[in-house]
Amino acid sequence: MKSFDIPIIYRSPLITAIKKKRKEMDKMKKDFSPTLLDFGPLHIYLARHFGFCYGVENAIEIAFKTVDKNPGKRIFLLSEMIHNPQVNADLQSHGIQFLQDTYGKQLIPFEEITKDDIVITPAFGTTLAIEEKLANIGIAVEKYNTTCPFVEKVWTRSEQIAKKDYTIIIHGKPKHEETRATFSHAAANAPSVVVKDMGEAKQLAKYIAGEKDASAFYDEFKGQHSEGFNVQNDLQRIGVVNQTTMLASDTQGIADFLKQVMIEKYNLNAANIAERFADTRDTLCYATNDNQSAVTGMLEVKADLAIVVGGYNSSNTSHLVELCEEKLPTYFINNEEKILSAKEILHYNFHTKEEILSTNYLPAKDPVKILITSGASCPDALVEGVINKLVSFFTGSLSSNQLISAFN
Ligand code: SF4
Repeated sequence: MKSFDIPIIYRSPLITAIKKKRKEMDKMKKDFSPTLLDFGPLHIYLARHFGFCYGVENAIEIAFKTVDKNPGKRIFLLSEMIHNPQVNADLQSHGIQFLQDTYGKQLIPFEEITKDDIVITPAFGTTLAIEEKLANIGIAVEKYNTTCPFVEKVWTRSEQIAKKDYTIIIHGKPKHEETRATFSHAAANAPSVVVKDMGEAKQLAKYIAGEKDASAFYDEFKGQHSEGFNVQNDLQRIGVVNQTTMLASDTQGIADFLKQVMIEKYNLNAANIAERFADTRDTLCYATNDNQSAVTGMLEVKADLAIVVGGYNSSNTSHLVELCEEKLPTYFINNEEKILSAKEILHYNFHTKEEILSTNYLPAKDPVKILITSGASCPDALVEGVINKLVSFFTGSLSSNQLISAFN
């Protein structure tokens, strides 16, 4: 896969060495076991895959190059580049301004943009309406477009099934930038509905089966269906695509469930299911699949706790947390400063959306075993910072620098 030129401050010498070594030993990416970092009294198990993905590195490279090559120009990003506070703050410190917040709230009116400005589209992509608005101002939208090719792949898949007259069901978070963009592209080609989870898929199934009055649909799926959606006509042939960062098991579960609903409603079988249900398979991206599989591999280790590093509004990171939480105490932090001491840690509860303080998170034993991973928008340097902070609490530990030679 292509390598990118991103600021060195995001890299970690230790993690770069580990990733390089693991890649050399497992070119086909078949081994999802974690890497043991044996510091002595502290054992850290690092997931096989984590950190910056293709789309994030591509977007960061383009954004920083744009700044370098355009001194004196006003540069805007449609919204957060990626869901990582450090990267976004770095971009802002280089003079980049955000036009909207993560949820689409306008921070700077489009009226203030002129044709001489640069507007960068983030990795999540954007809606057709925003593209049109910018094009009308005279902005060269395509020139600074960092939309990830794996997101565009979902749009292409939607277009393909739309051409065959299927309605598009999008499994994604309705307010997430990527899902809003995908919904906009899908709705331009076919009737479309967003379902955020199995609960909503089950409600949608009631309309498919005719168990619920169609008039209730418009309130229930308000803001999540395309204009002019006709419940009677538009749920007779469907295909499911998804936000690229959803939990693989949820995505599969929802697609299987809706397929079964169609089978029962229309009395179908394997030979004629395609008449009513498009075979889209999942549209998760490679990074989501790799990172989630690596967490599953890491969870085979009997450890004391897990730490997941990433932005609190990062969808892919929250799913890694979800997987870990099922097995052991898990702390979701966005940098090493959240580890206040050997006794206290501030961490994010993404279910209640609040940061909480936990005490005595490190057990009194030798060795303490900690699993660590991070989201696709998290710089490796942050993970190394977390490792070094933890190591500092254990007297007699080796240092990261001492360990690095084992991977060179
Ligand atoms: S998580 Fe996947 S879809 Fe999103 S930017 Fe990364 S590679 Fe692209």
